Amino acid sequence: MFKALLVNKTDDAGYHCTLSELDESQLPASGDVTVRVEWSTINYKDGLAITGKAPVVRSFPLVPGIDFAGVVTASDHPQWKVGDRVVLNGFGVGENHWGGLAQMARVKGDWLVALPDALSTREAMAIGTAGYTAMLCVMALQRHWDAAGVKPRSGEVLVTGAGGGVGGVAIALLAAMGHTVVASTGRLEESEYLKGLGATEVMDRAGLSVAGKPLQKERWIGVVDSVGSHTLANACASTRYGGAVAACGLAQGMDFPSSVAPFILRGITLYGIDSVMAPLEKRQAAWQRLATDLDRAKLAAITKEVGLAEALAAAPDILAGKVRGRLVVNVNA
Ligand code: NDP
Repeated sequence: MFKALLVNKTDDAGYHCTLSELDESQLPASGDVTVRVEWSTINYKDGLAITGKAPVVRSFPLVPGIDFAGVVTASDHPQWKVGDRVVLNGFGVGENHWGGLAQMARVKGDWLVALPDALSTREAMAIGTAGYTAMLCVMALQRHWDAAGVKPRSGEVLVTGAGGGVGGVAIALLAAMGHTVVASTGRLEESEYLKGLGATEVMDRAGLSVAGKPLQKERWIGVVDSVGSHTLANACASTRYGGAVAACGLAQGMDFPSSVAPFILRGITLYGIDSVMAPLEKRQAAWQRLATDLDRAKLAAITKEVGLAEALAAAPDILAGKVRGRLVVNVNA
């Protein structure tokens, strides 16, 4: 038997998620690798899955959790053997395949990435899908800057949703690369925390959250945006000539009320960042970079540990933007 969160939808109880005891025989037969999960996390999407606030879960009953890190206990996949340390992000896990908010998982071996030696399973999940996505954003910007010959400190980089998981890791990574990072947040009381991660300036997100002009004062050489909606539109409108924006999230909204002006008059580039179906080589590169480039003290500052039961309670909080940084879940607590 193992412990897991379980989402279900029934006529009597409606949509609900409970801490449950499950039998290993209930794990999905479609998987070919069984993993003893050591750590998982609560991401924004997990908040949606646990609360049912958006139709993220597409089959019932389902164990939520879009990511986990652990050790292989059984494998019918040629690449994986018992004892291998692995990390999983996305591929519909925690949405239409049983996920990581559990002590056991069975998934397709093709979805797994070998955990770099330098990362513990706890560190991997402190980073989680949010941090891995932040790295995908930073890699997209870096490729752009390399091609354009943009040097660190040649201009400011904006990180929106700075108090959240993607935002916190993005600030730490960009600051470590030598960039001047401006953090946009609705929680100005967290300014010292954001500066501790490497932000040189903290700005109130209010100015970015409302409709703005299609072209604004040129400021950013790059942007990591996890917020979407007017915030993304304003970020594009204030990106410098030839600069780039990496868009990965929708914490404010899925809409993008922008115009073509920044694209056709300033030649800016908007990169869409997807972590769920990203190809294996990109995942491996991102995890290797996280293992070497992310300051562990900053990761510790971002991270708060909770148990499986507390993860349930934290789900509405992450949707309300009340969680600072990352929640790592000890599935054995
Ligand atoms: P968090 O909840 O940790 O962070 C989101 C942050 O956005 C909040 O902390 C808050 O920061 C800000 N925010 C929340 N609501 C609003 C609002 N109404 N207006 C403006 N800002 C707001 O989530 P994550 O960092 O885990 O994820 C961020 C986004 O990225 C989510 O939309 C998520 O779905 C998406 N995502 C996408 C992935 C992909 O593959 N493309 C992968 C991972 C995440 P503050 O308080 O500092 O303002």
